[in-house]
Amino acid sequence: MIITLESNAEANSIDAVVQLASRYPGVEPKTYVFPGKGATITEVHLLGSTQAVPTELFEELPLVRSVVRVSKKYRLIGRHTGTASHAFEYNGVRFGDHEVHVFAGLCAVDTRESVEAVMAALAQHGVVTTRMGAYKPRTSPYDFQGLGAACLPWVFELAGKYGIRVIAMEVTDARHIDEIQRALEQSGQATGVMLQIGTRNAQNFELLKLVGQQRTLPVLCKRGMGITLEESLNAAEYIASEGNSNIVFCLRGVKSHLGDPMRNLVDFAHVPVVRKLTRLPVCIDPSHSVGRADVAPDGIPYIFHVVGQGIIAGATNVLIDFHPKPETALCDGPQALTLDRLPVLLEYTRRVRAAYETLGELFV
Ligand code: PEP
Ligand code: MN
Repeated sequence: MIITLESNAEANSIDAVVQLASRYPGVEPKTYVFPGKGATITEVHLLGSTQAVPTELFEELPLVRSVVRVSKKYRLIGRHTGTASHAFEYNGVRFGDHEVHVFAGLCAVDTRESVEAVMAALAQHGVVTTRMGAYKPRTSPYDFQGLGAACLPWVFELAGKYGIRVIAMEVTDARHIDEIQRALEQSGQATGVMLQIGTRNAQNFELLKLVGQQRTLPVLCKRGMGITLEESLNAAEYIASEGNSNIVFCLRGVKSHLGDPMRNLVDFAHVPVVRKLTRLPVCIDPSHSVGRADVAPDGIPYIFHVVGQGIIAGATNVLIDFHPKPETALCDGPQALTLDRLPVLLEYTRRVRAAYETLGELFV
């Protein structure tokens, strides 16, 4: 059962809910606070045997906005009737159903020059979000594994220099979380990091728990490439269940030769499904879905076509590979866009989003 309090509820109203809940044997109340732009939303979740708990008594308490019985599935991330979308703010950037962000950047950090070229281009176009892979999970042990902790000081320093607020950065091990947090601290919090859980770790439950246990950095949780959507959404539920609900869920295609000649079978038809099943902001990764920078006969690269498909379906975040010289990239060069495409991508995204925003009116 989820009890949502009014935004002006203070500790005494929350205590009243918790105390009433504690009267029922086998029921454990847990309080969650979701800080928002103007208002903070507090929810008290009742865990355990709640069948015998009447909703009315809670509804009558002061400053209780709603009381909702939830099914077991996606208890925290689920879009249960009466629960709001989970928008959140991190390092001055708001993520939600309405705010569009393009995380354009390097699949893998290679040189200081590439990082600086990308960040300078982002700053020139007013973009404050990027992607920078320092720890790369590679299929072959002989492939470039990423520069790791060694690159973090200068990546964060450059991010600070160019006003980058949030860097999506994959972690594959508990040590990486600590290294990132330490380097951010040493940089004087020059920027922020959204910890990325890659497709290969969608069922690495211990890693999911660890990114959920730290509350300072939000999490970009990618769909598992070879598992069901339900299994992937449970990855996000794992993170939330440990206490961190600042999650963006990212579709990135699924592994299937039926997607040939693209790298994966593009799954952006699931954008509205994820939005219906959960209250998380949704991201799309067109680069890892398509895997190639080819241009279609209409002059539009495949990658842009699928960006359009994701945005027109309601996604608000785009994670996308760029490289100043894709032919020299140490990872995923064939799918990287060159920096001259950046303003085009931003305009393309803006126009498709504007079209999306007019579509709902056809169905009222
Ligand atoms: C990535 O974004 O760099 C990446 C490895 O993606 P995925 O986990 O979706 O393969
Ligand atoms: Mn990649």
